Amino acid sequence: MTVHRGSCHCGAVTFSARIDLTRETSRCNCSSCRKSRFWKAVIPAGDFTLETGADMLADYTFGGHIIHHRFCTRCGVKPFGSFTMAELGGPMIAVNVACLDDVSPQALDDVPVVYEDGQHDTWERVPAYTGHL
Ligand SMILES: [Zn+2]
Repeated sequence: MTVHRGSCHCGAVTFSARIDLTRETSRCNCSSCRKSRFWKAVIPAGDFTLETGADMLADYTFGGHIIHHRFCTRCGVKPFGSFTMAELGGPMIAVNVACLDDVSPQALDDVPVVYEDGQHDTWERVPAYTGHL
C-alpha cells in the first residue's frame, strides 16, 4: 500500500491517501458519477488526510444524503466524497483516482476497474453499457 498525493485542478485542495491501486476501483452510472465521470477508490477515512483546502470545499448531497460529494469551489474538481457505511467498517472516503498526481498514465491504465449499476441501486451488478462512464 502506497501513500499517494492528489489535488483538485487549481491546487487549493490537496490530500494524501493510502491506496492499493492493485485492488479494484470503480466507476458507476448513477446520476452524479455519470455526469462527473467519477472514478473512485474507496478507502477507510483513517487512510485519508486532507492536507489543504478544507475551507475551499463544497459539501453536496442529494437523494438519500448519505454521500458527501466534496468539490473545490474555485475550480469545480471533485477530489473525493465521504460517507459512513457500517458494512464497510464505518467512515469511508471515495478518492477520485483521476485526482492523483503521482501515478503515471501507464500505471493508471493498469488499475483494475469494476463498473457498478448505481442508476438502479444495484451496485453489485455491471451496467449494460459502460463505455461512456
Ligand atoms: Zn480547485
